[in-house]
Amino acid sequence: MCIIDAGYVGNGLARALRQAGIPYDQLEATGEIGGNRAHGVYDSTHLISSKKSTQYVEYPMPAGYPTFPSRAQMLRYLNDYVDHFHLREHIEFGTEAVEVRPLDRTGMAGWRVTLSTGEQREYAGVVVANGHYWERNVPSYPGTFSGRRMHSKDYKRPADFATGGRVLVVGGGNSAGDLAVEAAATFGSADMSLRSGYWFIPKTILGIPSSEWDRVWLPMPLSGSGSRRCCGCPAAATSGTGSRSPTTSCSPRTSRSTPR
Ligand SMILES: Cc1cc2nc3c(=O)[nH]c(=O)nc-3n(C[C@H](O)[C@H](O)[C@H](O)COP(=O)(O)OP(=O)(O)OC[C@H]3O[C@@H](n4cnc5c(N)ncnc54)[C@H](O)[C@@H]3O)c2cc1C
Repeated sequence: MCIIDAGYVGNGLARALRQAGIPYDQLEATGEIGGNRAHGVYDSTHLISSKKSTQYVEYPMPAGYPTFPSRAQMLRYLNDYVDHFHLREHIEFGTEAVEVRPLDRTGMAGWRVTLSTGEQREYAGVVVANGHYWERNVPSYPGTFSGRRMHSKDYKRPADFATGGRVLVVGGGNSAGDLAVEAAATFGSADMSLRSGYWFIPKTILGIPSSEWDRVWLPMPLSGSGSRRCCGCPAAATSGTGSRSPTTSCSPRTSRSTPR
């Protein structure tokens, strides 16, 4: 087997294969463990899902960690996980896969992986867990804008917003929510531009992390109306602006405004 990734998913998979006695290669393009947490997020990133709902089941996060650990804590945890299960020595760092092709039409005969060095290897199966935060999707707008424009992937800390001024955050996902809060805390206010209504779900509801509510069984109609009450009514905030009502359902199974 071949695993492409030494982040959250790849390492969990490596542990599972190792446990099952299935031989594998694990390729990682960078020199680091942790994927997105190591080189893809801003300094102030904290988990949005809780530590309980994010940790590997067989390797809980340290008891001293807060409910929503920081980026640094997550990185330490991911590295500890790899060392605890002796996965590091088996990871090929600085090894980028540039092509994965089936050996026959169905892939049942195996797969050929080509590395950036030109080396080719064949495997019975390949797990591509290369993450989904590498390509920036930057919308184009008519007219000219003389201010600083930045994709959230390139944002690291408040100084990147430039010195003062107004900040407009385009979008309403996890990164947008975090960055609007950070800009507002830094400069006193921030605006958000949303192309439709969103349900903004608090990180905790009645003291319980939103991502843990799916462990509480409630009949659907009850859970739906309960969480709507807890989330407030975002349609009110957008009514009269011409934007659509929220299309995302607000069930306690959903801890985020957009999927991660
Ligand atoms: C701001 C923010 C907050 C988030 N908060 C949460 C949260 O609270 N809870 C949660 O569960 N998730 C959260 N996520 C999502 C989470 O980070 C990702 O779901 C997670 O990192 C996915 O892990 P992964 O191992 O699949 O991919 P990644 O972490 O993206 O790692 C992919 C790895 O593959 C390597 N790679 C890529 N291409 C190649 C190649 N061709 N050859 C070799 N190696 C390659 C990369 O170098 C990288 O190390 C958040 C994301 C962001 C941006």
